[in-house]
Amino acid sequence: MRVPFVSFLPMEKELDKDLRDAFERVYTNSWYIEGREDANFEKNFADYCGVDYCIGVGNGLDALMLALKALGIGEGDEVIVPANTFIATALAVTYTGATPVLVEPDIRTFNIDTNRIVPAITEKTKAIMPVHLYGQPCDMEPIMEIAKKYNLYIVEDCAQAHGAKYKGRLIGSFGEAAGFSFYPGKNLGALGDAGATITNDETLAKKIRALGNYGSDYKYHHIYEGNNSRLDEMQAAFLSAKLPHLNRMNEERRRIAKRYIDGINHPDVIKPYVPNYAEPVWHIFGIRTDRRDELEQYLNEKGIGTNKHYPIPVHMQECYKNLGYKVGDFPIAEKIGMTELSLPMFYGMKNEDIDYVINSINEWK
Ligand SMILES: *Cc1c(COP(=O)(O)O)cnc(C)c1O
Repeated sequence: MRVPFVSFLPMEKELDKDLRDAFERVYTNSWYIEGREDANFEKNFADYCGVDYCIGVGNGLDALMLALKALGIGEGDEVIVPANTFIATALAVTYTGATPVLVEPDIRTFNIDTNRIVPAITEKTKAIMPVHLYGQPCDMEPIMEIAKKYNLYIVEDCAQAHGAKYKGRLIGSFGEAAGFSFYPGKNLGALGDAGATITNDETLAKKIRALGNYGSDYKYHHIYEGNNSRLDEMQAAFLSAKLPHLNRMNEERRRIAKRYIDGINHPDVIKPYVPNYAEPVWHIFGIRTDRRDELEQYLNEKGIGTNKHYPIPVHMQECYKNLGYKVGDFPIAEKIGMTELSLPMFYGMKNEDIDYVINSINEWK
């Protein structure tokens, strides 16, 4: 038996007609950048998230970076970033010229440990970037209290958490802005690169849009030294075809996660922990074990695809040698890096696939 780590086939089969119609519509209209598809998706995604503004951009990294830039963050500023995240969160900060200050995660939730934020604050700190990693919402109440007390911005990294809820409220509107990625493998994925920033602040929304469009407020008039990062019509049309199915597809991920959690029962395997405040969307189903590499090899030999998120923490990446961190500085992030193993998780996974993974793990010697 073979169970891939991820497959888009069940989703693509189901939405085949909608996706082909979306292509036809854009191609027939023969208009590819900044048009009605983008405007339409932006409106629908803002409505879905319960916010006033959505700005389609080229990818998730830009969605975060442009939000930070629009907030005026740059050289000499510090931004608090979890030590356990995908590199893009830190890159969004360093591209503005600011410095990411890393904070250890909670070993149970993999997300930023809210008790460790205050000690990381200095007079240079401008913002906190909570990352709802693996689709698990961060503990937002303490983060919002800290931001208020120390006068900091919050920019949520929602790249893995489309539709996740914290205490019944959708993630993405807890701070000044939030960035989403629609990379194909994300819970809401385009058929290529795409992203969006959401906000309730009109001035900020205008600035983000200008920054992603060569810094121009109207054609050939440039008020900022901007980037070229726009959501193209084709991707916007594909996203509009998929958005109405997001909740249902997240529900399916929850069902798969529940089956895993109920079924996996091995003394060496730690299953994901879901706090009471969280309604996760399971972008990734990550277990932990001290014998991670052994388990990975065993599962791969049984035809089960796996992944590791993330084997080399941000502070140990070569590109960030200049930040001055060293091995041992973030033992919890390092431990997650050495022990986390991601199991197959995708819309359309069959029960027999899930059970094969469960049984394989439970039979592991
Ligand atoms: C995917 C991802 C991003 C970046 O999104 P791209 O669209 O690939 O640029 C940022 N942060 C996190 C946590 C991600 O998983």
